This record gives sequence, C-alpha cells and structure tokens, in this order.
Amino acid sequence: MMVGEEVKDARPEEPEPVTGTTQFVCATCGTLYPASEAPPRACPICQDVRQYVPDAGQRWTTTVELVSRHRNVVERLEPSLYAIRSEPRLGIGQRALLLQTPEGNVLWDCITLLDRPTVEAVRALGGVAAIAISHPHYYSAQRLWAEAFDAPVLLHGADRAWVVDAHPRVRAWEGEQQRLWEGVTLVRAGGHFPGGTVLHWEGGAGGAGVLLSGDILQVTPDRGVVGFMYSYPNYLPLPSWEVDAVADAVLPLAFDRIYGAFPGGLIAQGARDAVEQGRRRYRQALRGELPGLRPPP
Ligand SMILES: [Zn+2]
Repeated sequence: MMVGEEVKDARPEEPEPVTGTTQFVCATCGTLYPASEAPPRACPICQDVRQYVPDAGQRWTTTVELVSRHRNVVERLEPSLYAIRSEPRLGIGQRALLLQTPEGNVLWDCITLLDRPTVEAVRALGGVAAIAISHPHYYSAQRLWAEAFDAPVLLHGADRAWVVDAHPRVRAWEGEQQRLWEGVTLVRAGGHFPGGTVLHWEGGAGGAGVLLSGDILQVTPDRGVVGFMYSYPNYLPLPSWEVDAVADAVLPLAFDRIYGAFPGGLIAQGARDAVEQGRRRYRQALRGELPGLRPPP
C-alpha cells in the first residue's frame, strides 16, 4: 500500500542524522528527534501555543534512557483491538491502539517507547501494515515503529510541517477521507490541529462501528459527552465553527463507540449521541448558558 506523497523534513537546519549516536527525545511531549551528537536547540512541538516548555526550560531524554526506565503494557480492549501504553507514563501519556484486520494491522497513534518485548508482542499479534496518527502530538517515535515493522506512516498533509524526523516511509494524505482498505477509513476532522484525523473502523463494537479519536474528540470523565479543545494543557478553546466541522466530519459515519487517546478513554455505547451532546454543551458554554454564569453585560 502506498498512499500520498513523501514528507520532507520540516527542520533542515537540524544536525544531520549520525548513525550509531544518541537519539534525543523531548521529555515533555515524547517526540523523537534525528540521531545527533548534541540535543536539538528546541522542540517546536512544545514551543507551539498548544503545548508548553516547562518552567525550568526544555528537557531532553534519550531512547536509551527511556528503555531503561519504562516498559510497555499491551492489553486487549475488544476483539481485534489492543492498547499499548508505557509505564510509568511517558511524555503526554497517550496510548497507541493496534487494530487487527484481515488486510493487515493498523497502529493507530504512536508512542515513544519501542523496546524488544514490545516488538515481539506486536509481531505475535500480526505486526503492523500501516501506521496512522491523529495529530502531531502523537507523532512521537513514528520513525522507530515504521522501521521496526517496515510500515508506512500516514499523516494528514495539513500537519506536515510538524514532522521533525522525516523518512521515506512517512506519507502525507490529502482531502477529507482516506480509505486504507475494507472497513478502515481515515477521516480528517480538524479542530485541535488542521489535519486532525480520526479512524473509522466499520467492524468494531460488534459491527456497530468504532471511532478511534485521539484527542480530536476527547473522551471526558463523565463519558456521556466528548470535548473539543485547541489546547488541552493551556485551556484554549476552539471557535464554534471548528467544533461544528469536527462533528460534521464524523456524524455521517456509522459508529456507536469511541476509544480516546488516554488509557481508559472509552465511550462504550451511544457515542454518536456523545458527539451531538458534546457539540450542544460546547455551544452553550460559548453562549454563556451553563449554570452559574453571569448574564451577558
Ligand atoms: Zn516537545
């Protein structure tokens, strides 16, 4: 399978990759940088208004350090769907999901840690035929995973400028939908990032349909609604038209369940209502119609 065109590195001023030397990882967001003798000058993903650089300044770790301090846990979520998360929590703390299909497995979203036991566990589940990622905060170590499983990485072209470790397996797709194969479609929803993507799995939830949403649609603690934000750590909302665009992109799809970005993030049923309800509540918030607010001046 070959979709889209090759993404070139967005940061040509960075040092050239040096084989066999350390690979630095941003400790805050978990993004892997090309191998280099010295740490990169900055992490553009954390410098962006949607993320943050810690008070004490940019922190770097390395792939070697991470392998010694963390391990991955693989757990089954439902038939043909597995979650892979790092313990202790690493970077932003998202999980990756491995979706098994007859045409091959999709790794949905990505995490930074890829150690030998994880490679073996994923191979035992059928390997990875394609990697698809919702938005730049989860690009993480996509290059390591792509190389380990010889799989293409499919990113929406609207976010291509955030790729800091480009390689020939990274492919940008354009437009509103990209069908990977029977029953699996990437849908561009936007919102949190212009290329914000969700994965629609037609056969999930016993055939009712599933969305893998990253945090393009955020599973909230009360489960009955989804949230939408421009920046989650910095509490920056989206304009109403972006929320409408996200909801309008997914509501035509058949689905009853949503798996979010973080461990435990699940709307087990009634997920379409949760999207409708999330949009309704968001509009109420913007109009000042939630309980306890002063009337407009
Ligand atoms: Zn970062």
